[in-house]
Amino acid sequence: MEDYQAITLRNFREIPEIANYLSKEELFDIEVVGNVLPFKTNNYVVSQLINWKQYQTDPVFILTFPQKGMLKPAHYREMAQAIRGEASNAELKLVANKIRLELNPHPAGQLEHNVPELEGTRLTGIQHKYRETMLFFPSQGQTCHAYCTFCFRWPQFVGLQELKFAMKDTEYLVQYLRQNPQVSDVLFTGGDPMIMKTRVFATYIDALLDAKLPHLKTIRIGTKALGYWPQRFTTDEDADDLLRLFEKVVGTGKHLSIMAHFNHPNELQTAEVRLATERILNTGAVIRTQSPVMRHINDNSEVWAKMWQKQVEMGMVPYYLFLARDTGAQHYFAVTLENAWNIFRNAYQRVSGLARTVRGPSMSAGPGKVQVLGVSEIHGEKVFTLRFLQGRNPDWVGRPFFADYDPAAIWLNDLKPAFGKEKFFFEKEYPIKRKGSSGPVGVK
Ligand SMILES: *Cc1c(COP(=O)(O)O)cnc(C)c1O
Ligand code: SF4
Repeated sequence: MEDYQAITLRNFREIPEIANYLSKEELFDIEVVGNVLPFKTNNYVVSQLINWKQYQTDPVFILTFPQKGMLKPAHYREMAQAIRGEASNAELKLVANKIRLELNPHPAGQLEHNVPELEGTRLTGIQHKYRETMLFFPSQGQTCHAYCTFCFRWPQFVGLQELKFAMKDTEYLVQYLRQNPQVSDVLFTGGDPMIMKTRVFATYIDALLDAKLPHLKTIRIGTKALGYWPQRFTTDEDADDLLRLFEKVVGTGKHLSIMAHFNHPNELQTAEVRLATERILNTGAVIRTQSPVMRHINDNSEVWAKMWQKQVEMGMVPYYLFLARDTGAQHYFAVTLENAWNIFRNAYQRVSGLARTVRGPSMSAGPGKVQVLGVSEIHGEKVFTLRFLQGRNPDWVGRPFFADYDPAAIWLNDLKPAFGKEKFFFEKEYPIKRKGSSGPVGVK
C-alpha cells in the first residue's frame, strides 16, 4: 500500500522524475504558471500515469503540470518578473490575484444566476440550474487528488475566497430538497467529493437517506478519483467503508451514479483503476464517464474511440464530451466547435452502439448545455445545427436551432443566429452577450 503524497509548488523540485527530466527553464515555467493557476499532482499520477521519456507531449503531464502557454505572454512576464525580483509572498499573491481576475473566474454566470435562496438566505453550497438536478458542493470536498490544468473550478483552489461555492450544513440541503420536490437527482461535486474521508461524506449521505425524500431518486457523485487516486476505492484505510456506504445507498432503492472524469485512456490502464472500478460496480453503483475535449491532451478521435471502448469493456457508461469552458487558460486548451464536432463524430462512428450513449460536444453555457449537432447546409447556407441537452427552461431542450457557420467559433457567444435573425429563440428569456459587444468579457 502506498500513501498519498501531494506534489505542489512547495516540493515538486524534489521529486526524482521531475528533477531528472525537466530543464531549469521548464521548472521555472511551472513556478510562474503555478503561482497563478492551481498546481497539484501526486505520487500515483507521477509514477504510474505519465511516460517521462516523452513527458513534453504526455497527455497526463499536460493535464496536471502547468504549461507555459497557459498564461498569455504579458501575464507570464508579469509573474516571471515578480518571481525573479524576489517579491515577497504577499506581493506574489497580489500579482496573481490581479491576473486571475482577468481570466473570467466565474463563467456562465455561476455566481449570479444559479445560487438558490432559502427563506432569504443565499445557499452558496447549492447550485440549481436544471429542474431535475441539484448540485451540492460539500465544504470539505473543495479540493482534488490532483488538479487538472484546464479546470474551470480553478478559482476555488487558489483562495479567491468570495468566489467559492461551499456549504457546511446538511440541514439546508435537506430543507431545500423538501421544498423542491421537482428535484430527482442530487449531484455531489466540488472539487472532488471523494477527497472527503468516508466518515465525513457519510454524514451528508446519511442525512439524505434519513430524510426519506420520495422524489429523490438518484445520488450522483462527480469525481476524478478513479483517474487521480483509485486507491480511494481500494487501499485507503476507509475505502471499504466507502464501498459499504455505496451499498447502503443502493440498498435503499436509490440509484447511485458515479460520474467519473477521465480525460485519456492512459488513465484506464493501471491495475489500481481496474480493481477500483470492479469494486465500485460490485456495490451496485453505475459508473458514467465524462470529459472535456482539450487541445494538447485529447483532441484526437482515436483517443476518444479508444477511451470509450475501454470504458465499456470495464463496465462504465460513456456519458458526456464537453467543450473547454471560457475561463482560465481557454486560449491554450480550446478546440473550435467544428473540430470538436469532427473529433466527436469520427470517434462515435468507430465504436459500437454500446459506447454511443455518449453525447457531445456540449457547451455548459449560461442558458444551458448546448450540443453541436454538426455543420449542415440549408438552402446553400452553411450553418451549425445546435440543440439544448439541458436548459434553464426545460422547454428549450431538444429543439434544433441554427447559427452562422464560423470555423473559428469556440463558444456559444461566438455564434450569430443563422438566416439573418437577430437573436436565438431562447434569447427572449435569456440574452447572451456576444464577444465584441460591450460589457465584461465572458459574462453572458
Ligand atoms: C451538467 C449539469 C447538470 C447535470 O445534467 P445532466 O444532463 O442531467 O447530467 C446539472 N447541473 C448543472 C449546472 C450542470 O452543468
Ligand atoms: S478533478 Fe474536476 S474539479 Fe478537480 S481539478 Fe480536475 S476538473 Fe477541476
